[in-house]
Amino acid sequence: MEILKILTALLSFFIFHLVKIMQLDREFWKHKSLLEMNEKEWEALCDGCGKCCYRKFIEGGGRRERLYFTRVACNLLDCETGKCRDYANRFKLERDCTKLTKKNLPDFGWLPKTCAYRLLYENKPLFDWHPLISGRAESVIEADILIKNGIHEKEVIDWFEFVIDEE
Ligand code: SF4
Ligand code: SF4
Repeated sequence: MEILKILTALLSFFIFHLVKIMQLDREFWKHKSLLEMNEKEWEALCDGCGKCCYRKFIEGGGRRERLYFTRVACNLLDCETGKCRDYANRFKLERDCTKLTKKNLPDFGWLPKTCAYRLLYENKPLFDWHPLISGRAESVIEADILIKNGIHEKEVIDWFEFVIDEE
């Protein structure tokens, strides 16, 4: 009888910790810093909105420096879906394509306010439409997160005409 009690207690202990570990994995963004995340977790943070594929430009310098967001899209971006049309070859085809890595974390201020990397870097929670929370990739489009009326860079002469509010 005593042995049964001990075995039950041990089993409960292991189940308790197993559930805890599974929960930690499931909600890694709440428990790990960006620097602690593994590659899979890092990749999973991207919600696929495609907003970082729109051009930005800086005007002025010092205190007068201002970052402008535009609806001018990289030529490879599918503006309807927010997806890159040649993700595998993106760095060969677009020299301005930037890989988000742990090394360039301090520069994440240029990312949109909804971007999971920027949110976590600024110690803010993810939005509930993020696929990691909703469990569905479509929730990003349903939440109206994509930039509207995107125009490809090759069709634009003056980016300033296509400036939008920071999103
Ligand atoms: S803005 Fe952020 S979340 Fe959106 S596609 Fe770019 S990296 Fe991913
Ligand atoms: S090449 Fe880079 S910037 Fe252009 S659409 Fe693809 S991922 Fe975005």
